[in-house]
Amino acid sequence: MATRFVIIGGGPAGNTAATYAARLGAEVTLVERDVIGGAAHLWDCIPSKTMIATGGAMSFTRRLEGMGLEQQMPEVDVEALTERIESIKVRLQRSTTNLLSSQGVELVKGSARLVSPHDVEITTTADDGTTSVRTLRADAILIATGTRPRIPEWCVPDGDRILTTRDCYPPRVFPESVTVVGSGVTGVEFVHMFSSFGAKVTLVVSRQQVLPSKDPEVAAVLEDDFLRRGVQLLKGARAESIERVAREDGSEEVVVRCDDGRVVRSSHAVLAIGSVPNTDDLGLDVAGVEVDRGGYVTINRHCQSNVPHIYAAGDMSGKLPLSSVASMQGRKVAEHVMGLQKVAHRHLDYDKAASAIFTEPEIADVGLAEADAFAVGRKIRVTKVPFSSTPKALINNDWRGFVKIISDPATGVVLGGSIVGRHAAELISVIALAVTANLKVTDIVESLLVHPALSEALAEAAE
Ligand SMILES: Cc1cc2nc3c(=O)[nH]c(=O)nc-3n(C[C@H](O)[C@H](O)[C@H](O)COP(=O)(O)OP(=O)(O)OC[C@H]3O[C@@H](n4cnc5c(N)ncnc54)[C@H](O)[C@@H]3O)c2cc1C
Repeated sequence: MATRFVIIGGGPAGNTAATYAARLGAEVTLVERDVIGGAAHLWDCIPSKTMIATGGAMSFTRRLEGMGLEQQMPEVDVEALTERIESIKVRLQRSTTNLLSSQGVELVKGSARLVSPHDVEITTTADDGTTSVRTLRADAILIATGTRPRIPEWCVPDGDRILTTRDCYPPRVFPESVTVVGSGVTGVEFVHMFSSFGAKVTLVVSRQQVLPSKDPEVAAVLEDDFLRRGVQLLKGARAESIERVAREDGSEEVVVRCDDGRVVRSSHAVLAIGSVPNTDDLGLDVAGVEVDRGGYVTINRHCQSNVPHIYAAGDMSGKLPLSSVASMQGRKVAEHVMGLQKVAHRHLDYDKAASAIFTEPEIADVGLAEADAFAVGRKIRVTKVPFSSTPKALINNDWRGFVKIISDPATGVVLGGSIVGRHAAELISVIALAVTANLKVTDIVESLLVHPALSEALAEAAE
């Protein structure tokens, strides 16, 4: 008899697990309460990158003069941008749904919870408001319910002037000034996005460096770019209240107060201070599934919870909150459920996940970071090449940034790297492949790459 596999959540983790498990012969039901494709994926990742692409096009146009063209100042058409975001979302949603259906996955619209270790209860509300409940028995269950933006107790977002990240795609009006609270990946992407659209931006940075977990050299390039664009950085400050207040002329503004007494006034504020897992009200306690103090399901290397046939994957598993990682976890779960790990399974190594920050310049990294190697006294070889010596960067009229490769001095094996500059998110794939496949720097040097291309900086850094 086929394995009965029930998946809760249709984001990258859930829908990838469903596709692979169905291909491997499981009888799969995928329950999604909202949109197939995933909340974070379709509400955060895709719209934010779509807006950043439009903002990037605007800042590119501002540099046209340097390319022998007359400068033109484009204006944003909020309606057209909103339509563009919607059409991309619909296309992606449709292609994911078609793929799942073509593999024979049963798609159920509804909200699911565990009512026993093997039973999933699904509540569906029809268009006329009537609800129906059905319970599915499962041999294996995957919880892939994602996360939602974290709202602190000192602030009440209103979706109008005090915004969470999900209120920004696009905002009803483009803010004339924005205070972004939180200087992690999401925060800096929002700074980049709003400043590309011409807003006056202030970033509240709780530490002394934006992107506190990143290589200081990488963060420095981004900070320089922000300062050059007129972004105000409030370093060493923690926001402790955000309020809407009336100005004398009857209009309104947002006041952000920080713990060191500094106060910022702007037309809008955006909270980018992380997320919380969607694990409440899932019946995890009924099924005996353990969560950590933050509410994330604790998993082993196969993504199994403490209840072996109940798996967790994606953002709510508390690993790397990346769409790519969620998908790969989903694939590994499918393999494990179907017993494939015994023959052809490679464990997911979170330390080798490539990630990117879609700012300008773009930032991408993978594998071992220089600071982490120093922290544990590991000997490494670090080679760095600025794009200013790369012909294609000069042709592009954009030579900001560098390529840095970290390798083992004894063997030449590539351990990690970072890239700051145009197309960094694409270029990092070469280093990511080298890190995953244990390739040596000579493998990169001896590849016959294209000329002129930004990838030449990679070969030079690998020398
Ligand atoms: C602003 C922002 C930008 C981002 N940009 C990137 C990026 O550029 N690149 C990248 O790799 N990652 C990015 N991410 C992260 C990425 O979006 C997530 O890592 C990814 O979506 C996680 O996938 P998931 O499957 O775990 O969850 P989700 O995509 O959140 O999907 C979970 C699904 O579960 C459903 N669900 C929840 N509870 C229930 C229930 N009880 N019953 C039924 N269904 C339920 C939800 O409706 C949702 O559809 C970004 C995140 C943010 C916040």
